[in-house]
Amino acid sequence: MNVNHHPSEALLLDYVSGTLGETWSLGIATHLALCPTCRRTTGVLEAIGGDMLEAIEPAQMTDGATARMMARLDVNDEPDDAVDPAPLRSESLVLPQPLLGYLGKDLADLKWQRLGMGAFQLLIQTQEKDVTARLLRIPAGRPVPEHTHRGLELTLILSGEFSDTTGTYKRGDLQEADDTLEHQPCAGQDEDCICLAITDAPLKFRSLAARIVQPMLGI
Ligand SMILES: [Zn+2]
Repeated sequence: MNVNHHPSEALLLDYVSGTLGETWSLGIATHLALCPTCRRTTGVLEAIGGDMLEAIEPAQMTDGATARMMARLDVNDEPDDAVDPAPLRSESLVLPQPLLGYLGKDLADLKWQRLGMGAFQLLIQTQEKDVTARLLRIPAGRPVPEHTHRGLELTLILSGEFSDTTGTYKRGDLQEADDTLEHQPCAGQDEDCICLAITDAPLKFRSLAARIVQPMLGI
């Protein structure tokens, strides 16, 4: 599996330092389960963060500290092939472990909510009220109405693919969109696109028709 679209280093840094909220962290953790590149990056960030903490103690500021950091970086550079522990298969979808902790059971037992236009959503309960996580299922070949964002939107592809002006996104790819991106994602022709979408504000649709149906769709 080749993951080509990654979260920004700023988000990874917030995740590693523990300042990222629960719902965003679910998106990053799920991406990490699918992305060896970002697992290495977060390993490096953790090592640097640990050494910065050590550096606070004057007695620890020795040449040995650098050697220990390099040793840790070497460890984290080792390939980590342990992707998708305890995979769950349902409707040809394999959920990464962080998501399984929230969904907890076979997808076949979960109630997808109809969004209209052939699309479905599955809201994921977290402790946060101001950030929403959901699984979205977009039918093959169908577009999502063109929209911009009031806040931040993370979209992580779990199955199938979608494309917009910024490229094509497949399993493991994560798109980080904010109010500078106006796009119309379209699901690939071959299969439905299932993705984890995390938002902190309602989307802002371009077309009047989409804006009218938005409250009914709950997006
Ligand atoms: Zn990545």
